[in-house]
Amino acid sequence: MFNLRTLTIRTVEIPLKYPFKTSKLNETDRQTIILELSDGKTSGFGEAPGVSIPIFSEEYNESAVLTIKKFFSNPLLNATSIKEFNDETNWIKGNNFARHGCEAVLYDYLAKCENIPLSKMLKASKTTVECQVSLGITSYEKLKLNIAEAAKTGFKRIKIKIDQKNNIEMLKKIKKEFPKLELTADANCAFSERDLPLLEKIDELELKMLEQPFGAYDLLLHSKLQKRIETPICLDESIPNPAVARDAIEMEACRIINVKPARVGGITRSLEIAELSTKNGIKCWIGGLLETSVGRSLNIAIAATNNFTLPNDINPPLRYLTQDIAEGLEFEKNMAKVPATTGIGIKINSALLEKYTVDKLVIK
Ligand SMILES: [Mg+2]
Repeated sequence: MFNLRTLTIRTVEIPLKYPFKTSKLNETDRQTIILELSDGKTSGFGEAPGVSIPIFSEEYNESAVLTIKKFFSNPLLNATSIKEFNDETNWIKGNNFARHGCEAVLYDYLAKCENIPLSKMLKASKTTVECQVSLGITSYEKLKLNIAEAAKTGFKRIKIKIDQKNNIEMLKKIKKEFPKLELTADANCAFSERDLPLLEKIDELELKMLEQPFGAYDLLLHSKLQKRIETPICLDESIPNPAVARDAIEMEACRIINVKPARVGGITRSLEIAELSTKNGIKCWIGGLLETSVGRSLNIAIAATNNFTLPNDINPPLRYLTQDIAEGLEFEKNMAKVPATTGIGIKINSALLEKYTVDKLVIK
């Protein structure tokens, strides 16, 4: 039997150490949503790591809070299993960040009620997961320093953001400067069909992957490019759910999928995509959305399952946040340790959580 629960939805804003710039976004504060599901005895935490504007998907933080309140909170307050929660809410279209935050908080709560680590609940077998580092667009000199620092820390694989201005020529210079590092490039949808001739030259760089060169809805264009190049294309923004992942695999639009649990609407769907991918020879890894430790610890548990085989975008949150709202994650060089204590395995710092909360809603 479960006791009566309370759901607390917090909008949290933490200053970033450095502005994070991709081809479209420039964030100086990290605004994210932290959910707490409590029965007075046991408290679960989950993060919906969205953004304040609808630039990543149709959703944004304020709309996610409203969706959680109106549609997800009631099933969340009553579900006795993940399956029950999903059966009750699968009719809700889209709103993947909201759905993910709710499934995440329920996973942590249920794992804590059972007194087991989340990784065990997900049948994960790894005790550590390999990570890469992702570097935003900046001046070439600054980028060089950032890469050298990451290499010194022990990272073997470096992901570099590219755009219309900083691409093949910049990557060539980096490859020459750091010949031993494994390089990948992420375009965050910055290119279009007229850039096909430019991108066809990518093979000479021997990148481990080219991530999301074209728009989120451009599956056919990705398929066209993948057929002309050897470099594996990795899809990120293009994969919002398992059904689209199946289409992308069938169309040979990619050889790798970056699974961001929030982007695909939760843990269950992430595992489904990874299983489908493995069956079809497609590799997977877990991407990052500048989460606090609440989101990162969950991502580590998912990355510890068998179908995630490439280095993940999971770094210590204090690499980019000035302060974190929880502690307990352990990293060594390019490896993250899979938490072994109950649930997501971290300790929430209530004072800091309160300090960075800019909006709070309690639902009973
Ligand atoms: Mg990406």
